[in-house]
Amino acid sequence: MVDIKNIRKSICDIGKLLYDRELTDSSGGNISVRDGEKIYISPRRSGTDHQWSIKEDSIIVTDLCKIPIMGKAENISREASSHYCIYQNFPDVGAVIHAHPIQIMSFGAAHMDLAAVSEGTRAVLGEQPIANISEALPGSAEQGEAIVENFKNRRKIDPTAPLICSLPFHGTFAAGPNLNETFLYTEVANNCAKILIYRQIMFSGNPDADFSIHRHFTKEEIASIDATKEVCSPGYVYRGAFGDVTTYNGRQSGDFKFDKNLVEEITEKIIKQLKK
Ligand SMILES: [Zn+2]
Repeated sequence: MVDIKNIRKSICDIGKLLYDRELTDSSGGNISVRDGEKIYISPRRSGTDHQWSIKEDSIIVTDLCKIPIMGKAENISREASSHYCIYQNFPDVGAVIHAHPIQIMSFGAAHMDLAAVSEGTRAVLGEQPIANISEALPGSAEQGEAIVENFKNRRKIDPTAPLICSLPFHGTFAAGPNLNETFLYTEVANNCAKILIYRQIMFSGNPDADFSIHRHFTKEEIASIDATKEVCSPGYVYRGAFGDVTTYNGRQSGDFKFDKNLVEEITEKIIKQLKK
């Protein structure tokens, strides 16, 4: 887990994690975080010169128009313009990750959108495929505009859709409320690509292999499980935590209200048990 309160450190940690988990390579990737009106962004050549072991004081801080507050403008990552374009168009975005995840790039290199097939991908990203933008010069204004257009299309279908797209022959852009979520988008999307590739390698041509999805669980269905997370029905009789015969009344731990008498009662029971 990355401590997102320490922004500079969290950018360094996520960069290392992306690199170690082969979600990006030495040739590129860049990471940024919005904090109010300020943007924190990784420096140019983080992979090439540092294999993503970058230092906190190398992180550059700017305003929303890339005017530096700390650090030099010429040290900002080449692809920064796409990051700023995303922040200017999506006020809910708190972090952006551009990465080079090799398995998603394999789909991008075939101009194929990536279907969200795994439960993890659909739970996190929803059912929309991870779609390719049109080919654009890396770091160009055209690239930023194409990414924003792709993200707006995702939000047209689902106003709360997590934002991620594929750049043909290049990599991904993901944008989320914070760095942990944005890393998650990148990782689950690449895991989905891995599943599809392994499936093809392992079972292609095998007539016993059933490639269809039998049940489509939507993001909403998966989220609704939270509302019914009780593990037994009201009326269920069991031995409670203190050995008493107890009847489950449907109260969940989330409903627990502080009750001074109850706390005293429990404390007394614990003391009694310890004395035994
Ligand atoms: Zn790149």
